[in-house]
Amino acid sequence: MDNSPRQNPLPVAETAWREINLSAIASNYRAVRAAVGQGTKIFACLKQDAYGCGAGKVASVLSAAGADAFGVVSAADALAVREAAPGKPILMYPGIGPDAVDLVRDLDLTISISGEEDLAGWLATGAPLKVFVKVDLGFWRAGVSPANLRRLLDLCASQRSIAVAGLYAHLSEFGDAGSSAPEQVARLSPLLEELKAAGRLPKTIMVSSSESLLHHPEFDMGAVDPGALLFGLVRSCAGRRTLSICAALSAIKARIVALKTSDDSMGAPPDLPGYRPDMRLAVLGIGWGHGVPRHLDASASVLVRGRRASIVPPIHLEHLRIDVTDIPEAMLGDEAVLLGSSGGDRITLPELARVWKTDETGVACGPRESLRRIDVAREFKPNQQEGE
Ligand SMILES: *Cc1c(COP(=O)(O)O)cnc(C)c1O
Repeated sequence: MDNSPRQNPLPVAETAWREINLSAIASNYRAVRAAVGQGTKIFACLKQDAYGCGAGKVASVLSAAGADAFGVVSAADALAVREAAPGKPILMYPGIGPDAVDLVRDLDLTISISGEEDLAGWLATGAPLKVFVKVDLGFWRAGVSPANLRRLLDLCASQRSIAVAGLYAHLSEFGDAGSSAPEQVARLSPLLEELKAAGRLPKTIMVSSSESLLHHPEFDMGAVDPGALLFGLVRSCAGRRTLSICAALSAIKARIVALKTSDDSMGAPPDLPGYRPDMRLAVLGIGWGHGVPRHLDASASVLVRGRRASIVPPIHLEHLRIDVTDIPEAMLGDEAVLLGSSGGDRITLPELARVWKTDETGVACGPRESLRRIDVAREFKPNQQEGE
């Protein structure tokens, strides 16, 4: 891969940026589509500005690729998705309330109803509403409990302004705590049977997102709503299904904006981890203001001209120091790679997640708006981000 350090991929000079591979998202979508087939709708979950990749751009890519609908939480994400995908259903996961009723009408949004109090608030607006009822099968978060589902559906059915288009759950899949995905779905199955027998089954039933898509094909049902998987943010793409998935966030980079060899005319050296006399320090134009974690230890490194340079904490609002004593060829303006490839070396998403003490989703959703996104559509081999 070409990594000539001074090459500038930006239309204007930036000191730091992230690279998003939108074609990887389209490819991941196609892998999910191939797995679930045509009989299951795909609600692409684009919450948190599409996991940091930019909700508007991602929505237009996925809309063109054939996504059936979108799921978001915030009004800002709903606006971006609506603009990019005018005709597609948008499901609002629990978040907005009845004070957003004008937005719901103007953008033609489908709201979630998680309980009776929730329903009463929306009914008070008098507006006609398209609704998905959310049931909590063991996440212990939003959603009506299985025991109260039937009553909530009956209440909805008694209201002329409410059209229940779907019933959905989000499975808890955080390891050992709580119940397994099959145990959670088993809480819903008899209720679905009952509703079906009564001819009251909502049109769309949806319980499966990234993890269960991989591990439980039997939970596909009428629709699925993967998020992380579409952005290549799952740790493994193999379960009972194996999908060819590529990370959409392909790089985080910053330029060297200052460079000097330390000398004692600056006074006694501050308590810099790894300090040595004649240390050559480079300053990168990225800091915790861009979303880099404020507290990283000195074992964290970046790549400069294909070589590892340790960071020298603490991290500042706009700046991050690195030790380039052993990289004499480092120059002002060079690209430093926090995530991605440089020369023959590479910092992978799992590695950066470990250093940032988070997971892949934490890295993707960590950067702030001030860290510019640039779109790179490059050739990639499926699963190239997997190995380390
Ligand atoms: C976040 C979320 C999803 C997507 O989950 P992934 O694990 O990222 O696939 C789906 N549905 C709901 C309700 C969510 O909150």
